Amino acid sequence: MPTIFAKIIRGEIPADIVYQDERVTAFRDIDPVAPTHILIVPNKLIATVNDVTEDDKLLVGHMVFVAAQLARQEGIAEDGYRLIFNCNQHGNQVVFHLHLHLVGGRPLGPMILKPRE
Ligand code: AMP
Repeated sequence: MPTIFAKIIRGEIPADIVYQDERVTAFRDIDPVAPTHILIVPNKLIATVNDVTEDDKLLVGHMVFVAAQLARQEGIAEDGYRLIFNCNQHGNQVVFHLHLHLVGGRPLGPMILKPRE
């Protein structure tokens, strides 16, 4: 079953694509949590970070490189930003097609809230 992200990559459903090459596609998150919220997605299906293989190491590095380029393009590189991979249930992963969140454009606060005592 193709994921919703596979359909975006193939142009079958609309998305605000900000970058695409032969290895990755980047588009704006449909429900942004900050002024800049972009997802960097490999064009080939990898379900989760757990499924990244030795052969994918350059691809995942390329995802990070593209994220840094986009951060500069968005004008948020100097102030800073956050890159997030969510994995499986505890990571609150919703779409099972690997993606790197690029989030910035405002102070983001601490990374994870501690559970209440
Ligand atoms: P995650 O929890 O890491 O799996 O995040 C999935 C992200 O995909 C969420 O931030 C959603 O808002 C985003 N998302 C889901 N469907 C779409 C879509 N059609 N276009 C853009 N972003 C989407």
